[in-house]
Amino acid sequence: MKLHEYQGKDILKSFGLPIQEGIVATTVEEAMEAARNLYPNPTGKEWFVVKAQIHAGGRGKGGGVKLAKSLDEVQEKASQILGMQLVTHQTGPEGKKVHKVLIAQDVYYPGASEPKEFYLSITLDRVRCCDVIMASSEGGMDIEEVAEKHPEKIIKEWVDPLIGFRPFQARRIAFGLGLTGQAFKNAVDFIYKLYNVYRATDASLVEINPMLKTSDDRIIAVDTKFDIDDNATYRHPEYADWRDLTEEEPLETKARENHLNYIKLDGNVGCMVNGAGLAMATMDMIKLSGGEPANFLDVGGGANAKTVEAAFRIILEDPNVKAILINIFGGIVQCDRVANGVVEAYKNIPEINVPIIVRLQGTNADKAAEIINTSGLKVIGAVELREAAQRVKEALGA
Ligand code: GDP
Ligand code: MN
Repeated sequence: MKLHEYQGKDILKSFGLPIQEGIVATTVEEAMEAARNLYPNPTGKEWFVVKAQIHAGGRGKGGGVKLAKSLDEVQEKASQILGMQLVTHQTGPEGKKVHKVLIAQDVYYPGASEPKEFYLSITLDRVRCCDVIMASSEGGMDIEEVAEKHPEKIIKEWVDPLIGFRPFQARRIAFGLGLTGQAFKNAVDFIYKLYNVYRATDASLVEINPMLKTSDDRIIAVDTKFDIDDNATYRHPEYADWRDLTEEEPLETKARENHLNYIKLDGNVGCMVNGAGLAMATMDMIKLSGGEPANFLDVGGGANAKTVEAAFRIILEDPNVKAILINIFGGIVQCDRVANGVVEAYKNIPEINVPIIVRLQGTNADKAAEIINTSGLKVIGAVELREAAQRVKEALGA
């Protein structure tokens, strides 16, 4: 589950981390109200930043982050950004509609030293099987670009799961970023606390870009990106209301409601499989046969007529789907039950007009084959995996 910048900042604040203060707004009136409430002792000379809240990075470059030097400018910029279709390199060409803006304090104010942007993130290193903390003095930029052009500018510290994150590692990062004096101390504190946030929220990614050293040597989060592990959301009822369905793929939302593990992809062959491993093998096979998977879909161990029908409907809502491959191994689930589910779903969904290739192997596979073959439906059976791939190929006319 992804969070918005303002939600991530709320979490950081509750853990005692310094942030660029802000108030979220859904209308221009609310934005004005937020701006008026943002500074405790306003002099009228305060500057603001109006920031589009969407689940994608690169908002600044796309025109979704704008400086406002007065309340009038807040009004102007908020009306421009609210409701706009914001296109960034992470949204795809169609962009994302902006429903909320964050009105934040300008934190790049002049002072004893120049403000400086840094990059800081924590995620899981799947190769080393432990958490990795990454930092760079090239903050504010695309970290992918830094990784490509200047990999030496990315500092990494890995966390031993048995020992935990050690304070000297936080110091080594802050030192590597070239910080000194009070800014160094503040950064060590920030990095150390951020690791606690990452652990406590069951995040799979926390990214602060930029983490800013202000002109008076504070270290604050100007932007946040959080991805909370969906398998751990049951441990965080406090974030239950934070899921923003307007930001998520509608088919994935529908799948979650039906307890299906579905991820939409861009290909032309819909697949319905049980077990994540078999699902991945099936997708590989589709590619080998010249197709492209339209989705990843794991119907889980308890596949029945209802889940099969729900899965069918979700796959069929994707207009790119030219064929459907059902590949189920009957271990716990019995193949004849799945076969009945397929037949029933087929009858219930008159819109099915693409070839369906079915491979049901395992418990009661023979009964299943009989059900499929005598159903009178246009369903193509396959026994071997390779055979199923061949049928997909034929169905695509390749
Ligand atoms: P992103 O483009 O989606 O990553 O959004 P960010 O929240 O990172 O903001 C983009 C850029 O806006 C930052 O890298 C800053 O350069 C700029 N920015 C953000 N907050 C402020 C601010 O308070 N003052 C000024 N002058 N610039 C800001
Ligand atoms: Mn950013």
